[in-house]
Order: sequence, then structure tokens, then C-alpha cells
Amino acid sequence: MAERPVWIPAYIGVGSNLHDPAAQVARACEALADLPQTRLMALSPSYSNPPMGPQDQPDYVNAVAGLLTRLPARTLLLELQKLEAALGRMRKAGDRWGPRVIDLDLLMHGFSREATTELTLPHPGISERNFVLFPLCDIAPMLVVPGQGTVARLAAAADHSGLIALSPTG
Ligand code: ATP
Ligand code: CA
Ligand code: CA
Repeated sequence: MAERPVWIPAYIGVGSNLHDPAAQVARACEALADLPQTRLMALSPSYSNPPMGPQDQPDYVNAVAGLLTRLPARTLLLELQKLEAALGRMRKAGDRWGPRVIDLDLLMHGFSREATTELTLPHPGISERNFVLFPLCDIAPMLVVPGQGTVARLAAAADHSGLIALSPTG
């Protein structure tokens, strides 16, 4: 009998700053629950925060979702990109950190470490972005980010200026 893939914990950073961002984040989190071979296990509250990079764009709403998945990391990333497109994200060259209706970043997939352009794991933004660290800490404070320590410790060292907690996501 073929071996079935194991369930792996994965964390997704969800962000939006267009067309009612809080509703976009809630809609995306609902859709994460319908990904193949995947279960939605935890959802952080949402946070409002100023944009990173180009400042001439609306504030963002961010949250983090905790999944269990049987998909390999690259397959999950492809599913996230399909979902971004289905939710109306238009990708253009050079729009990194520009306004978007939805952004789904794969923050961690088990303890995988990868460093290619297509997929970097853990996501390099975790430790330096308070809008990732604080919602991640809400659902997984004891999670160890490979090479960096627990999320709780990283969050304790982070500046929470600009970050405003909103109501629960969804
Ligand atoms: P950032 O990744 O710094 O948050 P961004 O979300 O604005 O920036 P995108 O334009 O959404 O960046 O994605 C650019 C590329 O990043 C994608 O083509 C994707 O292949 C690559 N990428 C690398 N690692 C990851 C990851 N862990 N999660 C999502 N995308 C990743
Ligand atoms: Ca991002
Ligand atoms: Ca992204």
C-alpha cells in the first residue's frame, strides 16, 4: 500500500490593502479552509498597519492562518498563488510591496528551509515584520522559527508601533 503523506503544520501570512481589506482577508481565510489536502486549524485576529515600502498606498489589514496540510511546500505555494488569482490579485512585474487585493505568503512549512527565488522558507519577513510576528504570536507563540527562536521571543523584541488590533478575523 502506498504511504500517505503526513500532516504538516504550515502558517500563511494574509494581507490586503484594497477593496475593503478586512473583508478580503476574511474571505481569503475562509478559502484557505477549502484548499485540497489541507485543514484550517487556527486564525489570528486581524491587524491594521501602515504600508511597508511605497507609502503612497492605503494601510494594510494582516492576519495569520495556521494550517495542517499534506501538500508539499511548493504545491502549497502554487495553490496559494492560484487562490490569490481567484480572489482578484493581478500580478505585474515590479509590483512587489505595491497595493494588492490579497497577498498570501507561505511563512513556514514544518521546519523546511529553502532559499530559492520561487520559495524561501522560513519566509524572510517573519522576524522583521511586526504585522506578521504579532498575529503569528497570537496563534503559535511557542513555534520555533528555524535558526531564530520562538515566535514569542521574537515578538517580545519587536516594535508594535503602527499596529492596531482589529476584531477577530471573519
Ligand atoms: P514579500 O515576499 O517580501 O512579502 P511580496 O509578498 O510583495 O513580498 P510577491 O510579489 O507576492 O511578493 O511575490 C514575489 C515572489 O516571491 C513570488 O513569485 C514567489 O515565488 C516568491 N516567494 C519566495 N518565497 C515565498 C514564500 N515563502 N511565500 C510566498 N512567495 C514566496
Ligand atoms: Ca508579502
Ligand atoms: Ca507574496
